[in-house]
Amino acid sequence: MNDPVLVINCGSSSIKYALVPATADQPRLTGLVERLGSGDARLKGVDGSGDAFTRPLGGAGHVQALEAILEGLEGRQPFAVGHRIVHGGERFTRATRIDDEVVAAIEQTAALAPLHNPANLLGVAATRSLFPDLPQVAVFDTAFHQSLPPRAYRYALPEALYRDHGIRRYGFHGTSHACVSARANALSGLPGGGWLTAHLGNGCSITAVWQGKSLDTSMGLTPLEGLAMGTRSGDVDPGLHVHLVRQLGWSIEEIDRVLNRESGLLGLSGLTNDMRELEAAAAEGHAGAALAIEVFCYRIAKSLAALSCALPRLDGILFTGGIGENSPRVRQQVIDLLPHFGLALNPEANLATVRGREGRIDTLTPNRPALWVIPTDEEGRIADETRQLLGDTPR
Ligand code: ADP
Repeated sequence: MNDPVLVINCGSSSIKYALVPATADQPRLTGLVERLGSGDARLKGVDGSGDAFTRPLGGAGHVQALEAILEGLEGRQPFAVGHRIVHGGERFTRATRIDDEVVAAIEQTAALAPLHNPANLLGVAATRSLFPDLPQVAVFDTAFHQSLPPRAYRYALPEALYRDHGIRRYGFHGTSHACVSARANALSGLPGGGWLTAHLGNGCSITAVWQGKSLDTSMGLTPLEGLAMGTRSGDVDPGLHVHLVRQLGWSIEEIDRVLNRESGLLGLSGLTNDMRELEAAAAEGHAGAALAIEVFCYRIAKSLAALSCALPRLDGILFTGGIGENSPRVRQQVIDLLPHFGLALNPEANLATVRGREGRIDTLTPNRPALWVIPTDEEGRIADETRQLLGDTPR
């Protein structure tokens, strides 16, 4: 089957899409419909010649947005649709073909991801109504982490909270961690390598991957656990919530908003969650920006060290995501904090490996863990998993 796969990442007010061709030599059409449901709704895309375009879609909802996406595909028909679904709970351990029963199971999981799964399902419903004959596949952010052993996924809480309410660590960004660790296996000639994969974007997480399986990861029940992120706090003292309620009279909604949207790089710097702006501000002497970067890097190094415990052998550290792929400063600052790991950064390679380049940034010294920058390709991975599930040949 040479037809492309349409990959859909549907939020409550936006839909990202990519038409991923069967072979890498054909262009990929990508785009985004934003501000869904408002008079300002619009489709921003890149066509087959690589040119950007914008189309106003005033008032469009999910179905109209998908119709507009389809019209923008220059007549190329997908043979299947792959949907990014954030939470698959314990039920979904791999990509799964969507039918009514699977939709019902994803709905049940919505209690664990109230912001994401219902929005993802809007995209599934709209796509099924528009293309009733196309096979649709759900690819879950959590599925790659279903290989975690109990010692990594259980919280030290009463057993009933796990048994009756599913309270455990699930992990996220699974598609990205699976994508870059598989690429490292191929590039290094170590098909069963032991990798620490650092996905550093607006959301950030680290995973310990051994023989292609996730053994531990920094995010937990929700994508708030772990590293300091763009606007998310990551780990705090679990007693913080009670303290804020009792001492400051905060509501649950306030705590949720502050920890998810006003913390992390933004909260620490008082300036922005954008790493490019923080690096520029720090260079001009902004103390908050410098502190935000320092905390961000220290927490990454601490998490890498902690998660190394999950691996029988450490073959290398992989950097990916907007910051991991583009910030030599962050990579250098993280590596400098791990001298006892025997890492040897090559400063020139580190500076040169940006803007979508893939490559090793260590000195290639034998018997030392490698350092790689590997651009993530979540859409490509979702398309591959969709093809594989439907029995099509992978790209
Ligand atoms: P998302 O998680 O929303 O997909 P990305 O993976 O695109 O986000 O990462 C966004 C982050 O990457 C932002 O903090 C942005 O500043 C950072 N970033 C992008 N380019 C650079 C760069 N050249 N230098 C430093 N940080 C960068």
